[in-house]
Amino acid sequence: MTAIAEALPPEIEDFRRQVLDFAEREVLARHDRHAELLDDPRARYDGDGRLQPEVVELIREVRTASAREGLFVACVPEDLGGGGHGHLAYYAGWQTLFHRLGPRPWLLLHVIAHWAFGPSRLLSQLTDQARERFLPGLMDGSKIMCFGLSEPGAGSDLSALATRAERDGDGWRISGRKIWTTHGPIADYCVVFARTGEQGITAFVVPTGADGFRRVRVVALFGDIGGDEAEIALEGLYVEPWQVIGEVDRGLAAALYGVSLGRVYNSARAVGAGRWAVETALDYAQKREAFGAPIAEYQGVTFPLAESATELHAAHLMGRNAARLLDRGERAIKELSMTKAYSVQAGLRAVDRAMQTHGALGFTNELGLTEAWKALRVVNVADGSNEIMNRMIARQLLRGDTDL
Ligand SMILES: Cc1cc2nc3c(=O)[nH]c(=O)nc-3n(C[C@H](O)[C@H](O)[C@H](O)COP(=O)(O)OP(=O)(O)OC[C@H]3O[C@@H](n4cnc5c(N)ncnc54)[C@H](O)[C@@H]3O)c2cc1C
Repeated sequence: MTAIAEALPPEIEDFRRQVLDFAEREVLARHDRHAELLDDPRARYDGDGRLQPEVVELIREVRTASAREGLFVACVPEDLGGGGHGHLAYYAGWQTLFHRLGPRPWLLLHVIAHWAFGPSRLLSQLTDQARERFLPGLMDGSKIMCFGLSEPGAGSDLSALATRAERDGDGWRISGRKIWTTHGPIADYCVVFARTGEQGITAFVVPTGADGFRRVRVVALFGDIGGDEAEIALEGLYVEPWQVIGEVDRGLAAALYGVSLGRVYNSARAVGAGRWAVETALDYAQKREAFGAPIAEYQGVTFPLAESATELHAAHLMGRNAARLLDRGERAIKELSMTKAYSVQAGLRAVDRAMQTHGALGFTNELGLTEAWKALRVVNVADGSNEIMNRMIARQLLRGDTDL
């Protein structure tokens, strides 16, 4: 049964199948072998809320295994040594992974190089020296990076960015704070955004072990005892010209491109996880009996699932379309904003409805629905909140971009 009339191009369909095969062999199998470590937050994190070294090593194993099979960097531009697949493959790959693995994010997040943690077109503007130093480890999956844009006083509104890079000899000294930096607690490198002039913002790539780069704490979300996000203090961190990504004062373009890749990723993630949740609920509704019949007999149970299936189908079409527009070289500001905002809300509703279908069982940790709910709830804010997406859509409409 095919829901989408326009098939994926054969090379992307192949990529999707390879990703699925890899997920079975290398992710699910590993997850099952280490379920006690990965599924129990008390085992996953240390006393400071950081992932235990064994978990970090499992993550590295997945990255490097995927890199050996050419999947990790399949969507990285060819000039960086990647496979050159575009946004549609990126969307299809992530959608497939989250559909298959649903709520088990710890290893699956590392099968394809995520734009903020691994190589992407963002790094095409590295200097030769930075390429030599940072790229090999990022491409073979042995190293991981993070993306230091948001600050305690600057999230949606980047004009409030307060981190400054002051001239010092040939280089700069960076001072400021970053927060919500995903994988900040374990990253080897960080892309740091700092103000270099009144208007200008510059992106620098820095090793996280450098003097002046301090991980202040892990920021735990939802009452978790640990997490992936860090608060980072930059205390006179010295950077040299070869560490600049792109041009001085022009780093914002790199930031916005990165975040737009994040919107493709989060749209795919929401559709994939939402589909997993609906399928989980359909399965349960046919097995669970109440009042002498399977609960699937009751429209009060199945209609919410039908609505979610409809929303996810629409979101899936929107996602594939936005990715195709990006592959054609269009910025697709309106379409990508619509896709991201709609997909994350549809995905979250689907998981929430699946929890309701399961009754009390839906709130237990074993099924993973709570984990999926938490993951999708936060992407209603991360990479541009739903309100900021609406702001961007409204702006485009008011500029005359009313084609729908
Ligand atoms: C799980 C997670 C991971 C993240 N990872 C990273 C990362 O790796 N690197 C990084 O740099 N950042 C990261 N972020 C930060 C993320 O980009 C910001 O949270 C996001 O940009 C919103 O900023 P804020 O949280 O400061 O909210 P604010 O900008 O303070 O907004 C607060 C509220 O006001 C609303 N709002 C603001 N302005 C308007 C407006 N004009 N109209 C209507 N509503 C408005 C927002 O939608 C929101 O609801 C992450 C966030 C999360 C939740």
